[in-house]
Amino acid sequence: MAVVAGGSEPVHIMGAGLSGLAAATILAKAGKEVHVHDIRADSGARFDGDFQALENWSMDVDFFDQLEEWGFDASTFRATEFHVVDLIHPDDEITQPKSDKVAYRIVERGTSDHAIDQGMKKQALEAGAQIHYKSRVKEEDCTIIACGPKGTSAVAYGEIFETTHPNHIAFQLNDKLAPGAYSYLIIVDGVGLICTCLWRKQSKSERFLNETIAWYDKHYPDLNRKPIKRVGGKGDFTINQRYKQDGRYYIGESGGLQDFMWGFGMRMAVWSGVLAARDILGECDYEDEVRKQLLPYVRTSVANRWLMNRVGDRTFKRMCKNWMKSQSKRGDGLVWVGGLFRPRWYKSLLYHLVTPFMLRKDPKSMGRGVRRMPFRKAKARDKWEPSEEASAVGTQWSEIRRSGGKTSFANDSDDVSISSE
Ligand SMILES: Cc1cc2nc3c(=O)[nH]c(=O)nc-3n(C[C@H](O)[C@H](O)[C@H](O)COP(=O)(O)OP(=O)(O)OC[C@H]3O[C@@H](n4cnc5c(N)ncnc54)[C@H](O)[C@@H]3O)c2cc1C
Repeated sequence: MAVVAGGSEPVHIMGAGLSGLAAATILAKAGKEVHVHDIRADSGARFDGDFQALENWSMDVDFFDQLEEWGFDASTFRATEFHVVDLIHPDDEITQPKSDKVAYRIVERGTSDHAIDQGMKKQALEAGAQIHYKSRVKEEDCTIIACGPKGTSAVAYGEIFETTHPNHIAFQLNDKLAPGAYSYLIIVDGVGLICTCLWRKQSKSERFLNETIAWYDKHYPDLNRKPIKRVGGKGDFTINQRYKQDGRYYIGESGGLQDFMWGFGMRMAVWSGVLAARDILGECDYEDEVRKQLLPYVRTSVANRWLMNRVGDRTFKRMCKNWMKSQSKRGDGLVWVGGLFRPRWYKSLLYHLVTPFMLRKDPKSMGRGVRRMPFRKAKARDKWEPSEEASAVGTQWSEIRRSGGKTSFANDSDDVSISSE
């Protein structure tokens, strides 16, 4: 359903998540009639109160300044700033990269009033957009496609718990606990999340979460963890030949605008929503701007991911050491990690060399030439028996589950998994 710049026809958006709501707000503010459709009951319902980090290292400009420039009000949701992180090396050494600048902000995803999804929803409604929840529409009938992940390239599992521990963040590179990826601990105002990301497909995936929790219990003895619920979701990493096709705009994770290396996709989701809205308003060309502004970052992340897929704990240890060396030399822990994310000519070259082997065509992409990073197979080293401590964590969770503790794992865009009353 193509719309013409300056035309009066309504704009239909599929998906009321971060990217869809960002586009809706800008269009509605400009006087467009906007309808946002979501198969779920509310924005953020794909998540269940998990914490996510808004990265602030991939470019010089602060993400909140970008939001302000685009006309968004970041005070509509709660964001907790951090300047430091515990970096956990694969051999359990813990060091602390830090910065005088805001390194990242932790936001909540979900349906609570202070969640970022709800903040973006408030702004879209205030601008005049109409949001239709539990609304099933066809891709062909929408102008903007913003439904998040479709396929699965990676997954993350976490446990949310009550804690008396002060606010704290830890980021751990350990190929046993988080195959090909990382695990993390986030504590904000008495609520904690321990999460592990699996960039290789595993059987009995829960053992990775149990083992990770057992690791944190041992190394952070003051956690005093009281489990509440378990959460999780998938990530979809694709490269698209076209981001605009037949008058339709593919934004956020629906357009593959994600970080292949570690899954920091929120910034690109909002940004792509802004660009699509501006194209509809006749202010730019979405396809050109995505290629200019966002794709260099996506390509860099593909090259990074290719490298990550080839290494293990020995290289993770070297990365941690280099990160700390860079901090001692430059006095800012953001320089090293920022450098990893920023486009470089050699990463671009690597991208072109490796993508033919790394990505698989998606035949169901309506002619957009989508190539997806498949969920990689487990390695022999991923087979291990849980420790006694991890088994105890599993038993503790089984008891919590019996007394009502819920597990929610979002299978977005999987129409079969979401009921259609
Ligand atoms: C466990 C986990 C942890 C993450 N941590 C981070 C992090 O720390 N930092 C970061 O930057 N990123 C993180 N990400 C990635 C980030 O969540 C996504 O990149 C971002 O939410 C993508 O925004 P989006 O607008 O594309 O999709 P979403 O914000 O997910 O919105 C998609 C919306 O579309 C709806 N929908 C789905 N299918 C349909 C359909 N058929 N019709 C209509 N509506 C539909 C969904 O219900 C949802 O509301 C994480 C992802 C996961 C799964």
